[in-house]
Amino acid sequence: METTNTYSLGAHLSCAKGFLHMGKEAKGAGMNTMQFFLRNPRGASAKPLDETDAAALRAFLTENDFAPVVAHAPYTLNPCSPDDRVRELAGEMLADDLRRMEHLPGNFYNFHPGSRLKQPPDTAVDAIAGLLNRLLTPEMHTTVLLETMAGKGSEVGGSFSELRAILDRVDLQDKVGVCLDTCHVWDAGYDIAEDLDGMLEKFDREIGLEKLCFVHLNDSLNPCGSHKDRHALLGKGEIGMDALCRVVTHPRLRHLPFVLETPTDTAGHAAEIQMLLEQIR
Ligand code: FE
Ligand code: FE
Ligand code: ZN
Repeated sequence: METTNTYSLGAHLSCAKGFLHMGKEAKGAGMNTMQFFLRNPRGASAKPLDETDAAALRAFLTENDFAPVVAHAPYTLNPCSPDDRVRELAGEMLADDLRRMEHLPGNFYNFHPGSRLKQPPDTAVDAIAGLLNRLLTPEMHTTVLLETMAGKGSEVGGSFSELRAILDRVDLQDKVGVCLDTCHVWDAGYDIAEDLDGMLEKFDREIGLEKLCFVHLNDSLNPCGSHKDRHALLGKGEIGMDALCRVVTHPRLRHLPFVLETPTDTAGHAAEIQMLLEQIR
């Protein structure tokens, strides 16, 4: 299997058989980065962290020259819910996940800013930044990422300016960044197929490209601006393979880690990565 020296490419993997097992699975599939959940993505439960296994993954990632990896928060996490209990639970899950991430220092933790439901945007932005200000510490070794969202329903983070508003209210600036999801920004109305440079200029103006730490590389089943958030296999959606290749090879992006969240398994992701590398070589 071809290794990716120039690019950092991986996919979302399951952590069910342990951290080290997952790292080996990624490497075996030709990946040099990856994403995973630290707990049940549709609930809140988590097994106790196996410190020996986490240490083994740390060593494995270093030995194999992996780029930084990213843990994804559960989808149920909503730090801006109008429901007190849901917000509290978001705080508990985020705090616990960040404690877990200290066993994998120097990596990223990505979360969806949440759904504001009927509250005004400003209330939601305040709640999200407030939670980050309670949980982020100068001592921590993880950078927490806000994901760009498709703007489905009352989702927060469907525009760069909304992400900027959250970041602006965070005290510890060096502990926060942004993860750009190609399907989400496309669905949110940023035309990365016809005008990638325009999108990047907007990102730079409204957020700052120095805040961009990670990319989710997905095609989209729906047209630009559809606000749907349905991922497609690379080249099998509305964004298209050529546009996705331009994302990966863009001089302002190519140094970043990219993970696929396309609807397939690890073997499928390995094939997509090989196809991508053949096109951009
Ligand atoms: Fe996500
Ligand atoms: Fe994503
Ligand atoms: Zn998505």
